[in-house]
Amino acid sequence: MPRRVVLVSACLLGLNTKYDGGNNYRERVARLLEREDLVVIPFCPEQLGGLPTPREPADLTADGSEVLGGKGRVITWGGRDVTHSFVRGAEESLKLARMLGARAAVLKARSPSCGVGGVYRAGDRRLMPWNGVTAAILIREGIRVMSDEEFSEDALERALGL
Ligand code: SF4
Repeated sequence: MPRRVVLVSACLLGLNTKYDGGNNYRERVARLLEREDLVVIPFCPEQLGGLPTPREPADLTADGSEVLGGKGRVITWGGRDVTHSFVRGAEESLKLARMLGARAAVLKARSPSCGVGGVYRAGDRRLMPWNGVTAAILIREGIRVMSDEEFSEDALERALGL
């Protein structure tokens, strides 16, 4: 049977990669680690992009695909432009996905990197129907992404094409 590789936001598995040095542990996602038919790869795009932990939180000025295309920015709550690090993190994540042949990803909702269909806008912190920068690059690659809120084992099976 071919390996079925799933990328998972590291913070959902309990790794302390979150901007404040904590995590976003979700037991029902972490149970995937017990499955012998899956290879679960934890990853954190913001760390892959070279940002420290803890780090200043950041929001987007546009959808992640616009940020990738140079038409949007990623701005910290203190006003620092960290677009370059976020794009680099997305590119490194894509490299990881290709290296391992990942077909699906379970990503943390509302993160400026990992968010799927809902990300906060810089300035007013309004929730917009945008993807995070890494979610956008994975979608562009044809990888099926879902947030931890959308996740179920059945939904993941569908995403893996079974
Ligand atoms: Fe979690 Fe993604 Fe934020 Fe890293 S970038 S802490 S994996 S939500």
